[in-house]
Amino acid sequence: MALFVEKYGGTSVGSAERIQAVANNVAKSAREGHRMVVVVSAMSGETNRLLQLASEISHSPSSREQDVLLSTGEQVTIALLSMALEAIGVPARSYTGGQIRILTDNIHGKARIQKIDAEKVNQDLDQGRVVVVAGFQGVDGLNNITTLGRGGSDTTAVAMAAALKADECRIYTDVDGVYTTDPRIVPEAKRLDRITFEEMIELSGAGAKVLQIRSVEFAGKYNVPLRVLSSFTEGIGTLITYEDTSMEQPLISGIALSRDEAKLTIRGVPDKPGIAFSILGPVSDAHIIVDMIVQNIGLDGLTDFTFTIPSADLDRCKELLTPVIESLGAIDMIGDSDLAKISVVGVGMRSHAGIATTMFEALSDKGINIQMISTSEIKISVTVDKEYAELAVRTLHKAFELDEEKTTTA
Ligand code: ADP
Ligand code: ASP
Ligand code: MG
Repeated sequence: MALFVEKYGGTSVGSAERIQAVANNVAKSAREGHRMVVVVSAMSGETNRLLQLASEISHSPSSREQDVLLSTGEQVTIALLSMALEAIGVPARSYTGGQIRILTDNIHGKARIQKIDAEKVNQDLDQGRVVVVAGFQGVDGLNNITTLGRGGSDTTAVAMAAALKADECRIYTDVDGVYTTDPRIVPEAKRLDRITFEEMIELSGAGAKVLQIRSVEFAGKYNVPLRVLSSFTEGIGTLITYEDTSMEQPLISGIALSRDEAKLTIRGVPDKPGIAFSILGPVSDAHIIVDMIVQNIGLDGLTDFTFTIPSADLDRCKELLTPVIESLGAIDMIGDSDLAKISVVGVGMRSHAGIATTMFEALSDKGINIQMISTSEIKISVTVDKEYAELAVRTLHKAFELDEEKTTTA
């Protein structure tokens, strides 16, 4: 008898029929005697619908109220799934994040989980019930409802699995595993049997939305066996594991695309100590995540300072930097959200030179202009004009021979 935490994403619970299919899948394991905790997302499109409604009411809705609103999407699904389970004779109980006491910090819209009370869940499991938990939400120390950021149900599932010491956390979605790149962009993409935590963190961080980055970080930290599977077809999916140094690693495991990048350039700032801090300090205080940063050698004591942030934060970032720009005496500030970031990731990069050259050559052959470049030990990212994003991904997928059938796996 094992304990499994299973998470079903929006498409997997997108209709009454889909919810019944999920109930059947969960029932199978429950009837085999396994202890089952199920985390669900809002039905597909629901979170976007709620966000749209909020934007029709206010240009800048309070982040607290927005969380109250968004958390309702998942509440619908937990009730429906529990009803579906009970309808086929499987005892089940649904709980919101607050009811389970998924305690988070108080950063609305991107809260981090701090603690989960496993006792309540264990009591239900002991009674033979399936526990159905609303993903993507928790409460802060003052009982305000918080949400964990888009895709946050993955993190709820992994955090539940860590708290309950589950045998496996299974992320059921609309693809049958983690692929060499988004199979919707490159149909030739290949499913990976396994991928390392390190690579998956880089891919998720670079925009591969199949797993929310925090869920992978959490799983790596708390040693949670994590698997991505399809809720539509049978299969073994992809296991996220620690690196096995005895095996040969592929050079590049995957390519990620993010279209949600924006670039902010501050022109004509004085080239003197403290400038990066005066600009990026307020940005970080506002919990806006800065990714790439470029500062060139200036002319006449002036320089340009450019950095990238999530495009959703562009307006807010411009607003909060307006007084800073004035006090620094900079010329102006230009925002651009017409860019995309493409990242190639692989632990094999550590022991091979020339990956960047292959990347730059392939993009140049297609006439794609690279705007910014950044590297880490196992990742190279470039930003390009959004228009060329998909062409760039397809080009690199081919250039690194990921289209081809592999004889060895990582
Ligand atoms: P869910 O609603 O189940 O959480 P998501 O839409 O968040 O599902 O994530 C699944 C999607 O992630 C897939 O439909 C696919 O388009 C996209 N995706 C991006 N990169 C990858 C990748 N490397 N492997 C698999 N899917 C990917
Ligand atoms: N419903 C939330 C979203 O759409 C959380 C999730 O699906 O994981 O982002
Ligand atoms: Mg998701």
